[in-house]
Amino acid sequence: MFCPKCGKENNDESNYCFDCGFNLHSESKEPESKNYPTPEGKIFSGWASLIIMLLLGRVHNQYAIAFEIATLIISIYLMNSKNQTGKVNGIILIIVWGIWEMIGLMSRLSMANN
Ligand SMILES: [Zn+2]
Repeated sequence: MFCPKCGKENNDESNYCFDCGFNLHSESKEPESKNYPTPEGKIFSGWASLIIMLLLGRVHNQYAIAFEIATLIISIYLMNSKNQTGKVNGIILIIVWGIWEMIGLMSRLSMANN
């Protein structure tokens, strides 16, 4: 078989390309044009987590921090997803998250200055 990554011919029994080390068996079975399913559950929980985080506001308790971490993890997961819709939602989530964290940091800095 030919390596889908570098194009070198490999023994059919080999698991990895001898030239570039590409995993021939896990990746080669999935065609390039495969439509990855939309991670709807993750998108929903990402937005739900973000909304709860915003509603909890600047109440600095363990619940707000838990939702900040959850939103961040789900956003990163979505950004790395192969589905375009998932990716876009992940980027929007992380931007809103970043702005929120920046506002929090700035308010803490201005409080320290007073
Ligand atoms: Zn290769």
